[in-house]
Amino acid sequence: MHYSIQNLETIKEEVKLNCKTESLPNIIAVSKTFSIDKINPLIEYGHKHFGENKVQEANSKWRAIKEKNDEIKLHLIGSLQTNKVNLAVEIFDYIHSVDSKKLAKKISDSQLKKNKSLKIFLQVNIGDENQKSGINPNDLPELVSFCKDLRLNVIGLMCLPPVTENAEIFFQKLYSLNLQYKYNQLSMGMSSDYLKAVKNHSTFLRIGSKIFGNRL
Ligand SMILES: *Cc1c(COP(=O)(O)O)cnc(C)c1O
Repeated sequence: MHYSIQNLETIKEEVKLNCKTESLPNIIAVSKTFSIDKINPLIEYGHKHFGENKVQEANSKWRAIKEKNDEIKLHLIGSLQTNKVNLAVEIFDYIHSVDSKKLAKKISDSQLKKNKSLKIFLQVNIGDENQKSGINPNDLPELVSFCKDLRLNVIGLMCLPPVTENAEIFFQKLYSLNLQYKYNQLSMGMSSDYLKAVKNHSTFLRIGSKIFGNRL
């Protein structure tokens, strides 16, 4: 059995043990920087959700695969520049990084032209960090209603907690914001903190190195 499959199965079991609800969170295998030959075993194994953080890299790695296999769901987890929106709307099924009205509008325009409707997460700068992407929690209400007016299919909130602090506090905060807006999905948890995310009701874990090994 390929190591990536073994790693995924180990994670799934841990997640099951730590999950309070019957429906288990989805696991996005974050394959950024890994070549397709490292990813193929998981695809053949039947895994469905994969994550990339760069539009061009995702396009060259995944376009042919997605044309053959429409069960694969591709998630954009990295920040999106407005000049790459058209390509992103073509190749991805989910975008986790919408954090401004400008970007939301661009995605909406592009989707109308291409007759598509991606599933969207709004990225929240939950630790209120200067250098971090994500919308400030104070500005979230305005972005939420803007996206509603555009009829974007926003399914939940996403965050990357501050690395130096206990992630759990931030996961709790994001969960309660998510409840407030009555979203059904929640994108949080990476290799270092996914069990904490599971305990705080995450529905999409984004896990890279714990599945594929360390990135160079
Ligand atoms: C790279 C990345 C991940 C996965 O990180 P690992 O620590 O390898 O699990 C998750 N979310 C985002 C936004 C990332 O950029």
